Amino acid sequence: RTNSIGTLVRVPQEDFSSIGGQNTAISELKEALDFILDSDKIEKMGIRPLKGLLLTGPPGTGKTLLAKAAANYTDSVFIATSGSEFIEVYAGVGAQRVRKLFQSARDKAKAEKKRSAIIFIDEIDILGAKRGTHESHMEYDQTLNQLLVEMDGINVNDEVKILVLAATNRPDMLDPALLRPGRFDRQVRVDLPDKDGRLQILKIHVKNKPLAEDVDLEAIARETFGFSGAHLESLTNEAAIIAMRNNSDKITQKDFLQAIDKVIMGEKIDRKPTP
Ligand code: ATP
Repeated sequence: RTNSIGTLVRVPQEDFSSIGGQNTAISELKEALDFILDSDKIEKMGIRPLKGLLLTGPPGTGKTLLAKAAANYTDSVFIATSGSEFIEVYAGVGAQRVRKLFQSARDKAKAEKKRSAIIFIDEIDILGAKRGTHESHMEYDQTLNQLLVEMDGINVNDEVKILVLAATNRPDMLDPALLRPGRFDRQVRVDLPDKDGRLQILKIHVKNKPLAEDVDLEAIARETFGFSGAHLESLTNEAAIIAMRNNSDKITQKDFLQAIDKVIMGEKIDRKPTP
């Protein structure tokens, strides 16, 4: 079962304009991506290529979206996978999958005639936790070692430039070897959105929805402290469902307020006072 690793796509459609409330993260990420876009210059200047970047922050804040937009921005093929895909009972399988992941990234880029590939590893902490801390540590260690080998093998003059973006909510759990220069030596923080961020995200997700005149997105942004982007997306969807159940062809403010309660109850969102 080593054949299918990750989800392979060509260049993703998502771009930075489909991400709300993460302006700092976006500009830090873009700065790093210029390493790929300017790889010829980087090589001439003898600069060490950027191989890995860690996206840290709570679930549902847009880390996967950012990784896709990064691939779009750099015209790279994109492979998404998760740390959990490498966990196997049989020794060696995890390490083999890591090899396969990097090989498919290179193969896919060549097949698509692209100069670069972005590998996204969600939940990197599952495979990159400090060595010796898991029960089946032998197997985990081999897998992590193979990831380090693959990253160390990335060279500035490689035919296909590879950048590994990894996401975690627990950077403190990672093996320090992963954070060394030449590996994941940059971190971009992807936090819960503030009120303005929530408004931006709401605007993105109501774009294709019919809103009644009374809808006040500012007020909804104020009322949704603690919501992630994923929660806000779900909120706009719930509001549309409520409107439809009411046989209305437009979504009203009341529908949104009901949807807020629904999402809070479903997700147990930690609600502190509105900042
Ligand atoms: P996880 O860590 O749980 O994988 P994540 O941080 O990778 O979460 P995404 O998978 O990128 O989060 O987000 C899930 C969905 O939530 C997105 O497809 C999108 O619809 C919505 N979403 C999340 N963050 C944002 C954002 N900043 N702007 C717009 N939409 C967002």
